[in-house]
Amino acid sequence: MEIPRHWRLKKQRYGLVGEVCPHCDHKIFPPRDVCPNCGDEAKDLFAFSGKGEVYSYTTIYEAPAGYETQAPYTVALVKLEEGPMVTAQLTDVDNSEVQIGMPVEMVTRKMRNDGDERGLIVYGYKFRPYRYMPNQA
Ligand SMILES: [Zn+2]
Repeated sequence: MEIPRHWRLKKQRYGLVGEVCPHCDHKIFPPRDVCPNCGDEAKDLFAFSGKGEVYSYTTIYEAPAGYETQAPYTVALVKLEEGPMVTAQLTDVDNSEVQIGMPVEMVTRKMRNDGDERGLIVYGYKFRPYRYMPNQA
């Protein structure tokens, strides 16, 4: 039975799950079980909204093995609205349109194709430009 493993993968695949400190309410990502703010134990799971803004970015022209077909692409340091910084690839955006302060939201995307290894596809999160829609939550 591989249910626990599958459950874990699924959580990673569809959400940005970190932790929240029960002592000072500091939001933690990636999870590390210790609050970087107060140093106390923090193991309570917390689901991030996935929304944030571009804090800094760099465009990659020479991609590492497995990512060649995606180059050039932009990797950004995203400041989540809950506070933590996340490094991730941007998607659905022209590299020349990326700006510091641009609102972005997390999406789940195919990250790379592991060539010969049974065509294994690795999924992970990326961020795309987020446009405010008054009628959406
Ligand atoms: Zn804390």
